[in-house]
Amino acid sequence: MRFAYVNLNGDGKLKDGTIVKAIRVHAPGGPDALRYEDVERPAPRPGQALVKIEAAGVNFIDVYQRTGRYPVATPFTPGQEGAGVVAALGAGVTDLTVGARVAYTNVMGAYAEYAVVPADRLVALPDGVTTKQAAAATLQGMTAHYLAKTTYSLKSGDSCLVHAAAGGVGLLLCQIAKLQGARVFGTVSTREKAALAHDAGAAEVILYTEQDFEAEVKRLTNGTGVDVVYDSVGKTTFEKGLNCLKRRGLMALFGQSSGPVGPFDPQVLNAKGSLFLTRPTLGDYIATRAELVQRAGDVLGWITSGTLKVRIERELPLAQAAEAHRLLEGRHTTGKVLLIP
Ligand code: NDP
Repeated sequence: MRFAYVNLNGDGKLKDGTIVKAIRVHAPGGPDALRYEDVERPAPRPGQALVKIEAAGVNFIDVYQRTGRYPVATPFTPGQEGAGVVAALGAGVTDLTVGARVAYTNVMGAYAEYAVVPADRLVALPDGVTTKQAAAATLQGMTAHYLAKTTYSLKSGDSCLVHAAAGGVGLLLCQIAKLQGARVFGTVSTREKAALAHDAGAAEVILYTEQDFEAEVKRLTNGTGVDVVYDSVGKTTFEKGLNCLKRRGLMALFGQSSGPVGPFDPQVLNAKGSLFLTRPTLGDYIATRAELVQRAGDVLGWITSGTLKVRIERELPLAQAAEAHRLLEGRHTTGKVLLIP
């Protein structure tokens, strides 16, 4: 196999068999299942690039995969989102250069110093976007983008309810929904989070740990309800969320941070006003290279212009991945948590 190498070691070559650091999961479990270990640096196969990771995004899906809720064959290196510099190219990759700054998502293995990534999943970063910003906004930013622009194309006059509005996806979704012209309602668990959601564009913020959010949404909309509910919380919010919808409104259930929603009878959609229900996932909204580039281009462009603010709340060393998971699962985070190799 043939590789083009960047001069990372000062001698013009990356050496085969070099030992680097990565987080490994050998069996599903709690945060301590995330082990900081020595691994051999991977080499890119044809069509792949080796990325020297400068920042890895921490996402709730990493928790589901670590615990086994979303089964993954072990051992594995978690992490679905990274940004860094192209360190080497596998055969046949012609549209990338060693040294290019890139970001990616939906490829496992970002909790590491190096990751191999299919070249056609990499997005080049504009000068105005740092690798940390990219690692903070590639997965969650494109999720917010597809939810607000494609799953339900919000427009002026529409209204939406965003649960966990101060979370990673939440803060970005509030901003993009407002950008689309919608009136945004957000739910959060604390006053500190309420202030952040408000700053991100939520016109009304409901403390769903203290207030009945269904009653509040009905009150704030004069009993009409909203056009769309973006629900990433799942178990504790789903049923009441359906009651917050207008006739023929859309429930976009895109996560389950409080636990999975149980079996569902479609007749409920009829009884509650000919509602629509979708359970979307990012992979289906960036399946083609064209859609990936277009969505990422919008998000990165908004960051460059200052239209979209990315809140990086915490940066932890890669070795502290377990602590990052504890914080995320414990509802202690707002915006983004990054791991820095
Ligand atoms: P967040 O930063 O939003 O963190 C999760 C938040 O959920 C918490 O901060 C908390 O906010 C809220 N929450 C409510 N109940 C609980 C609970 N019992 N335990 C933990 N958290 C709870 O995470 P992400 O932005 O990374 O992800 C949000 C959700 O979106 C996840 O479910 C994730 O899987 C999903 N997702 C789905 C995608 C898709 O394409 N389908 C893509 C990206 C993310 P508060 O304290 O305010 O209640």
